Amino acid sequence: MNHSLFDHVLSIVIREHTEARAAMKCQNCAATMSLMETKNYFYCEFCGGFDFPGENKEGFVVLQEALDELVCPVCKTGMSLASISDHRVLHCTNCRGVYVANTTFRQIVDTLRSESNGPGTPQPIDLKEYERSVDCPACERRMKTHPYYGPGAVVIDSCSACHMIWLDHGELKVIVDASSNARR
Ligand SMILES: [Zn+2]
Ligand SMILES: [Zn+2]
Ligand SMILES: [Zn+2]
Repeated sequence: MNHSLFDHVLSIVIREHTEARAAMKCQNCAATMSLMETKNYFYCEFCGGFDFPGENKEGFVVLQEALDELVCPVCKTGMSLASISDHRVLHCTNCRGVYVANTTFRQIVDTLRSESNGPGTPQPIDLKEYERSVDCPACERRMKTHPYYGPGAVVIDSCSACHMIWLDHGELKVIVDASSNARR
């Protein structure tokens, strides 16, 4: 594993650095562009050009695709540095899971909830969810599988050492759509 790149990307995801270099090349002059502070676009200091990557169907803006060094714990595809609601996460464009810092996760839920159309249909917890095992992409230790401590019957995986959370495809939406009324 290339630790320097790994640490660099993780620092972007966890600390949301004010400015981070990403492997985005300027269309005009081929210089490496800068990723703007918590924004979803790139700026070229050399020619003044901008690049605006689009949002995918899930609402993620992919900022740097398929990092070989950061492998999805579920499907083993390289994860992508992405943004949702202006927060940095690692996103698997294959199985569509999300690897996100604890604190960022709460901010994303708050932001998306304020934009949500209200509670979805409450669902029971799927007990099969407890049988799975997910290894933390950062430290490679087994993540703890537990219910999300809030509205939404969702089982999530977290790593207490790295302060990171893994969400399968759709879990974020269930958590966001659940209101406090749905708590039980
Ligand atoms: Zn340029
Ligand atoms: Zn995946
Ligand atoms: Zn970990």
